[in-house]
Amino acid sequence: MRIADMLARSRPTVSFEFMAPRDESEVDVLERTVATLAGHGPDWVSVTYRVRTGEKTLELVTRIKRHYHIEAMAHLTCANTADRTRQILNWMEREGVANVLALRGDAPVSGEPFTPADPQLTHASDLITLVRRSGYRFGIGAACSAEKHPESPDLEHEFRYLHLKVESGADFLITQLFFDNKFYFDLVTRVRAAGITLPIVPGLMPIPSRRSLGVMTSMSGASVPAALQSAIDEAPDDEAIRALGVQHCITQCAELLETGVPGLHFYTFNRARAPIQILAALRGQQLLAS
Ligand code: FAD
Repeated sequence: MRIADMLARSRPTVSFEFMAPRDESEVDVLERTVATLAGHGPDWVSVTYRVRTGEKTLELVTRIKRHYHIEAMAHLTCANTADRTRQILNWMEREGVANVLALRGDAPVSGEPFTPADPQLTHASDLITLVRRSGYRFGIGAACSAEKHPESPDLEHEFRYLHLKVESGADFLITQLFFDNKFYFDLVTRVRAAGITLPIVPGLMPIPSRRSLGVMTSMSGASVPAALQSAIDEAPDDEAIRALGVQHCITQCAELLETGVPGLHFYTFNRARAPIQILAALRGQQLLAS
């Protein structure tokens, strides 16, 4: 089923992002997390893509669909040539994958610029165009930043290319992580003012640890509100940081749900505990259906 159709319903969707395993050592944790979170009623899930582990993404997406009967979306990036991209899309189509998240992708080495494999595919909008013009019938998601993308000079630049992704054929948007809902509300206001009506799903990261927070804020450009940052600075260990992150995420989600978001998308980092705690709190407050 197309995710855009689920997002058009009146009830907000709950979805989880899983990271495709980079090596065998990550497989067991991932399998346990998928099995555990599958029992917590996600409407759909998604699986990240890296060029070196692309087959694992495709394998996991099809397995989640078949084994758990949950709609699973494959991420796909501009890391491949156009020909190779078509091969991957053909394979997805044969396997019954219904939704693709079309991204440019991160550079394989953090901090280095992204180098496209094909001059035809340098940005996410090129990939969206390829999928649409080649006649595939996938639902297409695209990423957007609630705050400024680290490579963008300003929000105007960011917004111009967000518009291009929509014109190229994206059906819905998922935001990069953010810790202050004001950025999401401002983005929605700007997008609606431009006449764009696509669902914009907030992407939420329960903070996994001090180190992960540092990595993710520098990759995404997300800022940490001063009060949350000082609580993190004073926290004795990662367990205390994790608990702060869960509480902060519950507060963010509650406010987002009260304003009528189409869904909540959780960056799980292949850990089930924080999303379970957050969903339990939101269901306990009757903000989400059980
Ligand atoms: P783009 O839309 O191409 O934007 C990248 C930069 O280029 C932006 O600064 C934009 O303003 C600018 N830009 C866009 N189009 C043009 C143009 N035509 N001309 C000039 N400048 C332009 N990364 C992975 O590697 N694998 C994943 O699985 C993955 N999953 C993600 C899931 C989500 C929900 C999100 C939000 C991000 C994900 N990422 C993933 C990271 C993402 O690939 C990076 O944030 C990347 O830096 C930007 O991707 P994009 O699709 O927004 O790219």
